[in-house]
Amino acid sequence: MNKYDVIIVGAGVAGLRCAIELEKKALNVLMLEASERVGGRLKTDSVDGFTLDHGFQVLLTSYSECQSILDYEALKLGSYEPGALIWAGETNRFKTLVDPMRRPAKLLQAALSPVGSLGDKLRVGALKNTLSKKSVSAIYEADESTTLDYLKAREFSDSMIEQFFKPFYAGIFLESELGTTSRMFEFVFKMFSQGDAALPKGGMQSIPAQMVQQLETTTVQLNERVKALDRYSVTLSGGDIVCAKHVVVATDMSQAAVLTNGDVEDRDWNSAQCYYFSAPSSPAPGKLIVLNSSGKGSITNLSVPSDINTSYSPDGRALLCVSTDRSVAISTLEDELRSWFGRDADAFTFLKNYEVPNALPRQRPGDLLFGKASLKNKQGLWICGDHRYASSLQAAMASGRMVAEAIANAE
Ligand SMILES: Cc1cc2nc3c(=O)[nH]c(=O)nc-3n(C[C@H](O)[C@H](O)[C@H](O)COP(=O)(O)OP(=O)(O)OC[C@H]3O[C@@H](n4cnc5c(N)ncnc54)[C@H](O)[C@@H]3O)c2cc1C
Repeated sequence: MNKYDVIIVGAGVAGLRCAIELEKKALNVLMLEASERVGGRLKTDSVDGFTLDHGFQVLLTSYSECQSILDYEALKLGSYEPGALIWAGETNRFKTLVDPMRRPAKLLQAALSPVGSLGDKLRVGALKNTLSKKSVSAIYEADESTTLDYLKAREFSDSMIEQFFKPFYAGIFLESELGTTSRMFEFVFKMFSQGDAALPKGGMQSIPAQMVQQLETTTVQLNERVKALDRYSVTLSGGDIVCAKHVVVATDMSQAAVLTNGDVEDRDWNSAQCYYFSAPSSPAPGKLIVLNSSGKGSITNLSVPSDINTSYSPDGRALLCVSTDRSVAISTLEDELRSWFGRDADAFTFLKNYEVPNALPRQRPGDLLFGKASLKNKQGLWICGDHRYASSLQAAMASGRMVAEAIANAE
């Protein structure tokens, strides 16, 4: 007799979503997590009272999977303004790009913005219109190219690509060449158009924290690394073996490749680096993300999480989150910030930095399976996670839900 119907290996959002769904089907679940907390890549620390996410991350409120499983009100979300502040270098300095479709009152400001030509602005509007009518499944099945080729084919100007698309999407795709598949571009563009980019009061980790609270019968064991598994059992690092009717591999891509003996492909990873500073006040008020389009320096984007959700700071000070395209010495970064903000930057105090080498599985054309990967492999193992679908919270949760539904059907 198996004590458990299902063992889930890994308590990221894919594994958690899977467990929530299995509980609804009255299945008895054991969840084994190698680290000391649930949430996987959604991690938040408290440092000197500041809330620091491990890397610049946002919750897109339009994600249907998040809408169905998360209580947004309880998360007490604060939202970015749609648009961006563009750092154009020491001569041209900051330019504002607003989204007139989401902020109609700013139509004139948008039309007069020096970022992009009038033709570019009309093309953005047309793209929004097209993608608002295109379903996510149609996006995932569309022809794919690199995002750069996609934008060029739609005749966006080089300056619009360099000043806006490259720095904006570098912060999302975690690569700066726009080599990511156009399907991800369409998906992310659509999600940004249809909802807010938000931060929860307790940081991004409050998303998995809210999910684990929904579990009533599942046993969650932390600090329990699985070192081997097969169709009906897992071997723990101490050598104990636990059996179940189903085993779900809900780890990250590289661990899934190891545990399935190479059945899961271990592609490259895109990495993320971010540096947190405190400041006496916000150097970029207005709740806009600040993009570096100067073509110089290491900064990709800068945001002020405490402007988005005041809970990110313990007092009136501002929290700055500076994302870079590489590891950089703090003194070099401070010089770069001084070229942006002048003497104000002298009062910035470095808090902590995070390097996340395995942030997103590479997403070039042909890499992503968009829900078409088999849920169960030839060894009889169920597999979910963002590497099976696409790299986002939405896709990680969707893949966990789909595996749970398939297990329930197989019961
Ligand atoms: C810096 C950064 C920024 C991001 N920004 C965004 C964003 O803005 N919007 C968005 O939608 N997505 C974003 N993402 C992507 C999103 O966070 C991921 O797609 C999603 O969290 C992946 O969830 P997962 O459950 O598939 O995998 P993971 O979160 O990797 O979870 C896997 C879990 O398995 C555990 N595990 C691994 N091996 C074992 C083992 N042998 N035994 C037991 N447990 C094991 C791990 O400890 C981990 O907890 C970002 C990611 C990063 C890192």
